[in-house]
Amino acid sequence: MSPTRDADLLVVGAGPAGVAAAVMAASLRMTCVVVEAEEVGAKLRAIGALENVPGGWATGAALAKALVGDLARHQESGRVSVMSGRVVRVAGHDDRAEAALEDGRVLAASAAVVATGVTALEPEDAPWVEAREVRWLPPLWRAAAGDLEGRRVVVLGGDRPLGTWLRAHPQAKVHFDVLFPEADRYKTAEVADDARLGLDLVERVTVAPVPEGFRVTAWRRGGGARTLVADAVLSNMGSKPAVVPGLVVGADGYCPPDAQHPRVLVAGDLKGARMQRIAVAMGDGARAALEPYYRAQAVLG
Ligand SMILES: Cc1cc2nc3c(=O)[nH]c(=O)nc-3n(C[C@H](O)[C@H](O)[C@H](O)COP(=O)(O)OP(=O)(O)OC[C@H]3O[C@@H](n4cnc5c(N)ncnc54)[C@H](O)[C@@H]3O)c2cc1C
Repeated sequence: MSPTRDADLLVVGAGPAGVAAAVMAASLRMTCVVVEAEEVGAKLRAIGALENVPGGWATGAALAKALVGDLARHQESGRVSVMSGRVVRVAGHDDRAEAALEDGRVLAASAAVVATGVTALEPEDAPWVEAREVRWLPPLWRAAAGDLEGRRVVVLGGDRPLGTWLRAHPQAKVHFDVLFPEADRYKTAEVADDARLGLDLVERVTVAPVPEGFRVTAWRRGGGARTLVADAVLSNMGSKPAVVPGLVVGADGYCPPDAQHPRVLVAGDLKGARMQRIAVAMGDGARAALEPYYRAQAVLG
């Protein structure tokens, strides 16, 4: 006998994709449980300046607030409920999809939309960085300007959040030594004129904790190294998919939609490295909720 279903649809992750899935599901009179590990719009909240977003929201915090309101309206109707928790496994079965939470709870529904986005690369993920004694570095894009002003800051990687951070904090009195590999060279072009940066193309970097903070040694191509002592080392090396165990993972580490169990859908940034934008995630989340809806309609004839 199949276990009781908690809803028509489970949504894992309440970013733009997950919220769009829940709103679409509720508008189709499906019941929906949204499970979020941090808070609704967790990633958006730390984005200081937004571009090309439906509605023209200027900051991620403003958009996150709107998403909270969208869910709240559907919570009032009783169709959507939002649960706090981290999903540690998803599974598709003949008659249901399941999501297991860190605390041992298992939720079941007709289908699940997994929209857990991407997370920052760690030193262990970057072949050009050696930081054996440093397991985790805080991501630049989440850093508060006040915590960095007047400090010796090294940024590892020249990924796009650097430009976002500088645009969001035009008055911040910071100096960043940005050490980036060849692959990031084209991305640093947009920030090359910012006097607050020291941009340095490197081949390899080592980071070691020392009593004063961190000792960072950067090797340039063709030889030659320089050593800096930093109060803070921030990660800006790019991102990787936040894969939930149970999903099928492709060669690039992302979760291709066509490879998943028919009752397990993926949406948003988790699907692939291309087009990681809010508008795309919203449209994709809505599409993911429509799939099980129309599949059920087709079965009923
Ligand atoms: C610095 C920066 C600036 C950006 N600027 C722009 C911009 O200007 N314009 C634009 O269009 N896009 C921008 N983006 C990209 C945009 O933020 C993403 O494309 C968008 O947020 C993707 O939405 P998503 O719902 O797929 O994932 P996310 O927004 O990452 O949401 C995923 C959610 O899932 C939750 N979650 C993760 N794992 C679990 C789990 N196991 N269980 C439960 N919940 C989980 C997370 O806490 C999070 O709330 C920017 C990104 C960054 C980092």
